[in-house]
Amino acid sequence: MKKIYLTIDDGPSCHMRKKLDYLFKKNMPALWYCRGEYIDNATMSHLVYAIKNNFIIANHSFSHPYFSTITFKQAMDEILRTEKLIEKAYSLSGVPQKYKLFRFPFLDKGGKYKKELQDFLKSEGFQKACFENITYKYYQNNNFGEDIDAPWTFDACEYALFSKKSMEKRSLFVVDDFISRIHTDLPEKGFGLMSQDSNDIVLLHDFNQTHFLFEPIIDCLERLPVEFVLPEFL
Ligand SMILES: [Zn+2]
Repeated sequence: MKKIYLTIDDGPSCHMRKKLDYLFKKNMPALWYCRGEYIDNATMSHLVYAIKNNFIIANHSFSHPYFSTITFKQAMDEILRTEKLIEKAYSLSGVPQKYKLFRFPFLDKGGKYKKELQDFLKSEGFQKACFENITYKYYQNNNFGEDIDAPWTFDACEYALFSKKSMEKRSLFVVDDFISRIHTDLPEKGFGLMSQDSNDIVLLHDFNQTHFLFEPIIDCLERLPVEFVLPEFL
């Protein structure tokens, strides 16, 4: 059966706990790639709760920059500051942190510093999440499976609801627009969820502005003939 790796970026938001409960109830594991800038005392407790309930907390930088527009030193700082907060969440939860995982904002791997950043992540003990059997040509042509940071293959694009660009285009506005994206069958264009040929890495977001989309999207994913799993790690 097709496998889906569920990843949730850009949290933690004040709605995270409710989302965790929803996923837990449905037995859907997930990786949460969090932004350091959103971790405060209140949201730290959501991270601890997530860890205690077997979710994985991962690193998505501190302030979500395009890594190709910042210096190498700033890039290291973005990664390390957030990792400290994640370490704190694991230590507060009493659960050992088994994995150090990272995803670049916007999949911008740092431009001219790309190799140095991959080496830096390795030297800091970050691991590669092994997403198996992703067969899309674009995924293989871009070597998305090779690097240590995590890619994705289906982006739910909830942020389109509050991004100026998409408002101008009048593209995605209501819940049904997002649900119909899940049912779009264009595997090589990033809409492969209907195809049984490849597994998928689904990217959802933990934004405050779109929290009401979370449960309908999860319900829709749950009805697909797929299995929800966590990756193996190298
Ligand atoms: Zn992001």
